[in-house]
Amino acid sequence: MPEHRGAGECVIALDVGGTGMKGALLDRDLKPLLTLRRPTPRAAGPDAVLAEIAATLGELADRATALGLTIRQAGVVVPGIVDEESARARYSANIGWRDLPLAEILAERTALPVTLGHDVRAGGYAESVLGAARGARDVLFVAIGTGIAAAVISDGRPVRAGGYAGELGHLVVEPGGAPCGCGNRGCLETVASASAVAAAYTARTGRAVEGADQVAALVEYGDPDARAVWQRAVDALAAALAVAGTLLAPELIVLGGGLAEADDLLLEPVRAALASQLTFQRRPRVVRAVLGDEAGCLGAGLYAWDATAPSTAKALAP
Ligand SMILES: [Zn+2]
Repeated sequence: MPEHRGAGECVIALDVGGTGMKGALLDRDLKPLLTLRRPTPRAAGPDAVLAEIAATLGELADRATALGLTIRQAGVVVPGIVDEESARARYSANIGWRDLPLAEILAERTALPVTLGHDVRAGGYAESVLGAARGARDVLFVAIGTGIAAAVISDGRPVRAGGYAGELGHLVVEPGGAPCGCGNRGCLETVASASAVAAAYTARTGRAVEGADQVAALVEYGDPDARAVWQRAVDALAAALAVAGTLLAPELIVLGGGLAEADDLLLEPVRAALASQLTFQRRPRVVRAVLGDEAGCLGAGLYAWDATAPSTAKALAP
C-alpha cells in the first residue's frame, strides 16, 4: 500500500447552494471518502437553512466517526457576499441572510472547527489546484447558472476585497434593461444566466422550456428564436469578459456552471465575440471548467485543509 499522508484523517466539506447542498468527507488528497446531497430549505427561510446546514455537518461528523476517521476541520461555502477574513456571510439575495457570523454560529452548534468561504471563489480555487486552471497565475473563473459570479485569481492570489470582488453578473450590459434581483437594470445576469436564457426564449416564443439546456438543443436544431436568444447571451457575456479582461488581464478564462455544459456551442461563439472586442489586451484562452458541480465542495475541502496547516502568511501575521 502506498504511503498515504494523513490516512485516518479527513475534513468535512459542504457546498450550500440555493437549491441543494453537497457534502463530503475528503482525505488529504481531496479524495471523497463519502458524499451526500440534501435539498436547501430556502423557502422556509434563513433560520431553517442554518438549522439544515448544522444538521448536515452533524451527520457528516457522525459518519466520519463511524468510519473511524479523525475530523480535522469543516469547510462550508455559501453564495452571496462572503467575507472570509471575518468569517461572515454579509448578504445573500438567494437565502436571505444579512451579516451573519456564520462560521461562529456553526462552530457553536456543531462543536466543529469551521472555515467559511464563498461558493464561486471555492470553485475557482478547486479549478486552479485540481482542474482547468492548474498552473495558471491570472485566472477568471466564471460560474454561469441561475446567477453569474466570478472568482478572480491575480498574480496567483485570490482577489476577495471583503467579499465584494467578482460580481461579474451585475455588470450592466443593457442599460435600462430588465430588472435584476440586485435592484439594478440590465445586469449581465438578466441576459446571460441559464435562467435568463430559458426565460428569454419563453418570452419571445410563448413556448415554455425546461431550462437553458433545452434552448441549447434548439440552437443546434436550427431554431431561429433560440439562435437569437443564444447570440444575445453570448454577446453580453463577451462584452462583460472584455471589460474584465481589460481590467485584470487573465491568461485564462474558465467557464463553469450549467450554461457551460453546452460546451463548444457556448465557448466557440464567446471566443469569437471576445476576440473581436480585444485589440492590444492580453488574449485569454477560454476553456470549460472540468470539475463540474463538485468544484465548490472540493474548494470547501481545500479551505478546510488550509486552515489546519499554518501557512507562511499566517506565520507572518501579527
Ligand atoms: Zn444585478
